[in-house]
Amino acid sequence: MAKKFDYLVIGAGVAGMSFALKVAERNAKVALICKTTLEEANTFLAQGGVASVTDLKVDNFEKHIHDTMVAGDWLSDPEAVEMVVKNAPDGIDFLVKKGVDFDRKDDGSFDLHREGGHSEFRILHHADNTGAEIQTSLIEQVRLHPGIEVFEHHFAVEIITQHHLGRIVTRRTPDITCYGAYILDEESGRVETFLARATVMATGGVGAVYTTTTNPLIATGDGIAMTYRAKGTVSDMEFIQFHPTALYHPGDRPSFLITEAMRGYGAVLRNLDGSEFMQKYDPRLSLAPRDIVARAIDSEMKLHGTDHVYLDVTHKDPEETRRHFPNIYEKCLSLGIDITKDMIPVAPAAHYLCGGIKVDANGESSIKRLYAIGECSCTGLHGGNRLASNSLIEAVVYADAAARHSLDAIQGYDFRNDVPEWNDEGTAHPEEMVLITQSAKEVNQIMGYYVGIVRSDLRLKRAWNRLDILYEETEKLFKVSKPSRPLCELRNVINVAYLIMRQAMERKESRGLHFTVDHPRPKAVEPSESGF
Ligand SMILES: Cc1cc2nc3c(=O)[nH]c(=O)nc-3n(C[C@H](O)[C@H](O)[C@H](O)COP(=O)(O)OP(=O)(O)OC[C@H]3O[C@@H](n4cnc5c(N)ncnc54)[C@H](O)[C@@H]3O)c2cc1C
Repeated sequence: MAKKFDYLVIGAGVAGMSFALKVAERNAKVALICKTTLEEANTFLAQGGVASVTDLKVDNFEKHIHDTMVAGDWLSDPEAVEMVVKNAPDGIDFLVKKGVDFDRKDDGSFDLHREGGHSEFRILHHADNTGAEIQTSLIEQVRLHPGIEVFEHHFAVEIITQHHLGRIVTRRTPDITCYGAYILDEESGRVETFLARATVMATGGVGAVYTTTTNPLIATGDGIAMTYRAKGTVSDMEFIQFHPTALYHPGDRPSFLITEAMRGYGAVLRNLDGSEFMQKYDPRLSLAPRDIVARAIDSEMKLHGTDHVYLDVTHKDPEETRRHFPNIYEKCLSLGIDITKDMIPVAPAAHYLCGGIKVDANGESSIKRLYAIGECSCTGLHGGNRLASNSLIEAVVYADAAARHSLDAIQGYDFRNDVPEWNDEGTAHPEEMVLITQSAKEVNQIMGYYVGIVRSDLRLKRAWNRLDILYEETEKLFKVSKPSRPLCELRNVINVAYLIMRQAMERKESRGLHFTVDHPRPKAVEPSESGF
């Protein structure tokens, strides 16, 4: 028996929960599903904070818009930028009303931080664990709301379209429509049919496509892969943001972040033989911007065939180091690294996806009745590179836009009662899990070695050929297997890897986060008459 809801929200991070609360407050009946627990999400790990113009004495929307356009290498959609920046204060207001406790000064005003790329102090934060504060506050609200039914350990396998009703759907089909999704209940092992007037993809990022990532390992890009398989539009996948200095500790996934403040404090990057290398890349040495440092480290690792470099603070006063970086000191010490005496092994880690499911100003995708919000969506805000702390606020602003739009739209949508149940006749559980786990590792390696920070036509082609073998093998396995979370995630990771490669191959220039040795950066990219 199919379950029926006004809304099926797939994903319970800041995007999915904000949306669910907004529509439930207008009496809609919502199913909120997540693949593990409500706590496990990228949102929980966010540290820095949320960008919004709040201090109008020194800051204004034009400055935030300009900073976002510069960071995005002038590839951002000006309308999306303006929409997020101008609606950000309302987004903050929403979070505060939901119980998020941003740090304040004695006079009650927000204690604002400033981050790289921002021309003003405009980052609201809760100490250095803003994401956890947001996630736990929203969880509390969601659990209390009678209109929201939470399904933990439920995994979305595919969205339902006309394809499941026997119609041939291609990328040219103009009216592809989403009627809900097939959801695997991990406890019973059954795939259930969830029908909805509108479905919302809020499945987060894709960090787990790479071996080294700061994302939780659930970040396998499921929503993007599902939408693409249903013939929806996905774009800007070549723009993957890498954090330059994650702690290198094999087997530690996700990777622990070594804050950029440590380079500001005087930490020096070195090769394994102890030699400095940043002088080859940028006169600002270890203080160069994030993407330049990430590229330099990547280049040295490729040159020497190593898996990491070192970040060295051993020349600084040990007391001061411990005082400035107590968390990093403790974390490293727990692994036998005393950062006051030993150099810290670091490597760049996949951190954030700028692209995703293409949406309009209402958060609507190219598939009817399917919205996408948060990191899995491509609104056009980030362009070629994300400005720090712009992602949490983007999720809240677009959750609001999608809620407003869909509350009107769903009045005209009915449930489809002719959707067949999931058919797994003739399938069995794979005999050996190694067929799945080893392929997942291979995808990670291909992406790390060939589709990482520095790309070339040859590396992309090599990656493409190797991925093709894994794709064929996995699709064959999927057809004869009962769906399981690991197998579905592998399929999704391969889909996402394919999209990153293909869109990287199509971009014949080095721009934003996409850097290729075969195609230089265009000479002038900034608009001559900047309105920003
Ligand atoms: C270490 C770190 C620090 C960061 N710091 C900042 C910061 O300071 N400021 C900032 O703005 N951004 C920051 N970011 C980025 C930001 O945290 C994310 O972009 C944002 O939280 C994404 O929210 P989301 O709701 O889109 O997805 P998530 O919070 O990732 O939630 C995804 C949800 O989708 C569910 N899901 C996924 N696939 C399925 C499936 N197949 N079936 C069912 N459920 C599924 C998951 O279970 C989860 O509930 C940081 C990210 C990281 C990793």
